[in-house]
Amino acid sequence: MGTVMTRKPFVAGNWKMNGDLPRTRELCADLVRRSATWPDVDVAVCPPYVGLAAAAEALRGGRILLGAQNMHEAASGAYTGEVSAGMLLTAGCQLVILGHSERRRLFGETDAGVNGKLHSALAARLGPIVCVGETLEEREAGSTERVIETQLSASLKDLTTEHLAKVTIAYEPVWAIGTGRVATISQASEVHRFIRHWIGTKFGARAADNLRIQYGGSVKADNARGLLSDPDIDGALVGGASLDAGEFEGIIRAAV
Ligand code: PEP
Repeated sequence: MGTVMTRKPFVAGNWKMNGDLPRTRELCADLVRRSATWPDVDVAVCPPYVGLAAAAEALRGGRILLGAQNMHEAASGAYTGEVSAGMLLTAGCQLVILGHSERRRLFGETDAGVNGKLHSALAARLGPIVCVGETLEEREAGSTERVIETQLSASLKDLTTEHLAKVTIAYEPVWAIGTGRVATISQASEVHRFIRHWIGTKFGARAADNLRIQYGGSVKADNARGLLSDPDIDGALVGGASLDAGEFEGIIRAAV
């Protein structure tokens, strides 16, 4: 497992709570212009909800995919402030990030909650990026694999192999997100191999070989090539550096 290199690299930018409408339009237009010469890599941007329709417009007809950073599991109803998968779809999204560590840490998101959203996203034909990752305390206590396994098994509960084919996993060590502290290639690779192996035991070798696993955590243009050259690291989920078109492009170019 992990040696069959048929997986197309996938780089996604998580803008977090950054980018007003003018900036969203400008950054998307800049990326579209640059994308004409990009290598064969899947690329997505994930602006805040309010910018999604404008981003869809700016990206229309191009190759850059659009994702949201979160969603609610229900289709509609009395959930003030929330947005459903169907709404994301009609705003022009193809993707949605689920279970980002900031959602887990700051907004109480649980693995069970991620699982409910995952099923709703798949039912709506959105491609989910499911985030997992350990805290520094968990890593130092030697429990990284146990934590990742718990997150995977609860977040992917009752998923069919067919549905797994639509899912991307993002391994994002919490201690590396927004801290400038990037995992070493061997630290990231070890966890990616663990995830692929775990997927293999639950969904079969073929599903594991086809699964794209992104690394996330302080990825920049100057550290991307090393990480993305690892055979088990299939792309990146990029936070801060995705707000700078030149940096983001550098990461995309490093992905092949
Ligand atoms: C993220 O938000 O998913 C992320 C990895 O952030 P950063 O690249 O800024 O560490």
